[in-house]
Amino acid sequence: MAKKPQIVILGAGYGGMIAATKLQKKLGSGEAHVTLVSKHKYHYQTTWLHEPAAGTMHHDDARIEIDKVLNSNRANFVQDTVISINKDEKKVILKEGGELAYDYLIIGVGATAETFGVEGVFEHAYHKWTIDGVRELKDHIEFQFSKYRNETVHKDEDLTFVVAGAGFTGIEFIGELSERVPKLCEHYDVPREKVKMYVIEAAPSALPGFDPELVEYAMNLLEHRGVEFKINTPIAEVKENLVVLKEGEEIPASTIIWATGVRGNKLIEESGFEAMRGRVKVDADLRAPGEEDVFIIGDCALIINEETERPFPPTAQIAMQQGAVAAENVMALIRGGTTSNLKPEILGTLASLGGKEAMGTVNVSFLKGRKLYGRSAYFMKHMSDNRYLMKLGGPLLVLSKGRNPF
Ligand code: FAD
Ligand code: NAD
Repeated sequence: MAKKPQIVILGAGYGGMIAATKLQKKLGSGEAHVTLVSKHKYHYQTTWLHEPAAGTMHHDDARIEIDKVLNSNRANFVQDTVISINKDEKKVILKEGGELAYDYLIIGVGATAETFGVEGVFEHAYHKWTIDGVRELKDHIEFQFSKYRNETVHKDEDLTFVVAGAGFTGIEFIGELSERVPKLCEHYDVPREKVKMYVIEAAPSALPGFDPELVEYAMNLLEHRGVEFKINTPIAEVKENLVVLKEGEEIPASTIIWATGVRGNKLIEESGFEAMRGRVKVDADLRAPGEEDVFIIGDCALIINEETERPFPPTAQIAMQQGAVAAENVMALIRGGTTSNLKPEILGTLASLGGKEAMGTVNVSFLKGRKLYGRSAYFMKHMSDNRYLMKLGGPLLVLSKGRNPF
């Protein structure tokens, strides 16, 4: 009897989970052996992490145990960290000492913080958008408030929060924090005026390239909650409790949150793939150039938008579409067929702004091209979160982990 092909998926993120669940549903029993490898025994909703980061959601609500979604009779899960990929020998090396041989590999290990060479970020700023990373940040925020009451001498930096970068991550995080600050002040008996919140952006506008009316809506709302924007103001360096701006000004801050963009996981470059900021410019069928059996998806993959001739921003919605196409393509190859190309579809861009506020654009059915503000944007954002849960685990997952859109 011929040996079953080994399909190995790296990373239980948006791309990896969609690929794994699609393969477990669509492969006939005995057609192939599927293994998903990831660092944690849970999948986390990166797109929700600004909420547990600011403490407006419990971190457990943003994660899903993998065994709740993956059927162990159809796919195998290995909890481990991949430390390298040996393409010549077609195997993956794991941190705990093991190795996994593959016939087909799907890589979806996500992104890490981009610093653009700014020194001090990794040492002095919160930069990890993972469950462990945001839990530490949330505990630190609360600690700063509780400490304040017990100190007789207060420094400017004690309750100063600086968000580096007014992209979607920075805006969504400050939306949550600015919503929570009045409650934190009340809980810890801290006068509201002692708290300072800054968002510092290098480009000439917040959310560069996004719809100007929606950007204005978000900025007005956040300013109203006490957020101060410094636009056109690149950060040059981060030191302990200090942000140094390119123009020379220094802002003392005991909480610095780094959100100036992402680059692909270092595993990509360390495994010898040619990459730009850690992202591989994949072929239209998502294979790494020159590789017959390696697919790269999500934040590790770079794909070009033919309309704008610029790369698509790395998002969960693209990662999911790529996960589905990579799974279909692996099945096609196993069955002796040909691969298909990804046809990226942007269904909209919605950003939450804390509380029941949100804004964004929607690109589906009768709402095509519509701008949404406030409650209607909040509703659509949560419905799109539920749509993902539905795809991943069906109605039971929506019931246990779903969002209330009202
Ligand atoms: P991820 O979802 O990041 O998953 C990568 C997985 O790989 C993780 O499980 C990780 O533990 C695992 N892993 C990493 N390294 C290893 C290793 N060496 N070995 C084993 N496992 C490993 N996008 C949207 O479309 N809409 C949004 O509303 C949105 N909101 C966002 C909000 C925030 C706060 C952030 C930070 C991002 C947001 N994004 C959003 C972007 C989106 O989260 C990413 O584009 C998406 O998560 C990428 O999916 P992925 O599958 O490539 O990787
Ligand atoms: P981003 O690249 O979208 O934004 C980073 C911002 O930081 C940019 O505006 C950039 O000009 C600024 N910046 C860079 N260097 C700087 C410096 N030295 N000083 C000050 N500002 C600096 O990155 P992000 O917000 O981390 O988002 C990452 C990806 O995730 C993007 O593709 C984004 O679209 C996606 N995302 C989407 C959502 C959503 O759809 N709701 C939410 C979060 C993230």
